[in-house]
Amino acid sequence: MEEKKIPYKIYLSEDEMPRAWYNVRADMTNKPAPLLDGETMQPITLEKLSEVFCEELARQEMDDTTAWFEIPEEIRNFYKMYRPSPLVRAYCLEEKLGTPAHIYYKFEGNNTSGSHKLNSAIAQAYYAKRQGLKGVTTETGAGQWGTALSMACAYLGLDCEVFMVKCSYEQKPFRREVMRTYGANVTPSPSNTTAVGRKILEQFPGTSGSLGCAISEAVEAATSREGYRYVLGSVLSQVLLHQTIIGLETQTALRKYGIKPDMIIGCAGGGSNLGGLIAPFAGEMLRGEANYQLIAVEPASCPSLTRGVYRYDYCDTGAICPLQKMYTLGNGFIPAATHSGGLRYHGMSAIVSQLYEDGLMEARSVAQTDVFAAAQEFAKCEGILPAPESSHAIKVAIDEALKCKETGESKTIVFGLTGTGYFDMMSYGKFNDGLMTDYVPTEEELRRGFDSIPKFPGNE
Ligand SMILES: *Cc1c(COP(=O)(O)O)cnc(C)c1O
Repeated sequence: MEEKKIPYKIYLSEDEMPRAWYNVRADMTNKPAPLLDGETMQPITLEKLSEVFCEELARQEMDDTTAWFEIPEEIRNFYKMYRPSPLVRAYCLEEKLGTPAHIYYKFEGNNTSGSHKLNSAIAQAYYAKRQGLKGVTTETGAGQWGTALSMACAYLGLDCEVFMVKCSYEQKPFRREVMRTYGANVTPSPSNTTAVGRKILEQFPGTSGSLGCAISEAVEAATSREGYRYVLGSVLSQVLLHQTIIGLETQTALRKYGIKPDMIIGCAGGGSNLGGLIAPFAGEMLRGEANYQLIAVEPASCPSLTRGVYRYDYCDTGAICPLQKMYTLGNGFIPAATHSGGLRYHGMSAIVSQLYEDGLMEARSVAQTDVFAAAQEFAKCEGILPAPESSHAIKVAIDEALKCKETGESKTIVFGLTGTGYFDMMSYGKFNDGLMTDYVPTEEELRRGFDSIPKFPGNE
């Protein structure tokens, strides 16, 4: 009876919304390795990084000692349109599973972009605007990041140029049109509008594209023009920093009811939502205050943590971005055209990679059809149609809840529900028709990806 005091949805008030983002690197003994300049192979300087990224964002990227970054009031005001987001107790799912586990999910799908990506989009657009730029360029995979950035740019009056991975551009015309409705210019990638795009098309005619290719095109479009900068929706430490609003709100909501989670689960594409969700909890672990089981879930088709290597690699296929030390499948790895476009990325956040390397986190990979089955089960009892990406976390949360059913343990499971799947109905259609397949890369395919990782002393 006691536990029923916990409501279905734990809402925070606007005043309880965090006033600063948390930089978990400040509490890490083993800091992520510095970004390397691709020309000199030396740690990149702020000046050089600021040629690609906005100055303040470059500063955030390189800062591994400042624990808290105040959230500017303009950004906080934008956040208030759709935040704080609810932490939901999945009573219905628990009952359906017949598990003694307590399941909570932090729902980030309550905005038009349909995902957590708006949290960083508004921050990045804000700093671009404050620097007096005309606009920003970016890539988008499934379309969520491009949509989020289009919304943020429209709000602040910035020009927004989006390179959209070709298979998504074709598979997801609705998302493309949302972006255009918000005023963005959307180009399918690889395209012949950039030198790197033309080169990739020559090498791989008929390719369905990848996030890595699209990043390269967006970087070129930004650096070859005055008044533009490139912004990225994941992978970078600055993005993870902005996404800590997810974890900080979760922490506040849990504390409000004296709930202590046993495990925290997030899906991992580039690692920003997962990193943002777990950062405050990892911080407690790093400071020796608490212990949690932190779990990253990735698709079996793009297994950067579970089958990748920890090396310096380019964040993009065109090798224009600086090199980052991370778990990677190689910048030349082109994942199969799965239905979780947002998780099709060859690398992983440097922060998440280091936490994983240091054993503070574990990782699992899951097959696509199992993910959709979990999504359907969740949708039927929790009323939310989840994004395929988010459903990776659902899958492992359900697995863990069922383990509790066997052992009789009542663990408290928290997972990140990063977004909604309304624009993924073609994929759901495949699943419903029984036509969905599970693609797992062979060792040979992985080796080809690894061969694209740059080789230099200390990186083999
Ligand atoms: C982009 C996206 C992800 C994965 O991105 P991360 O940077 O790994 O967080 C997960 N879920 C949804 C709904 C997304 O749009």
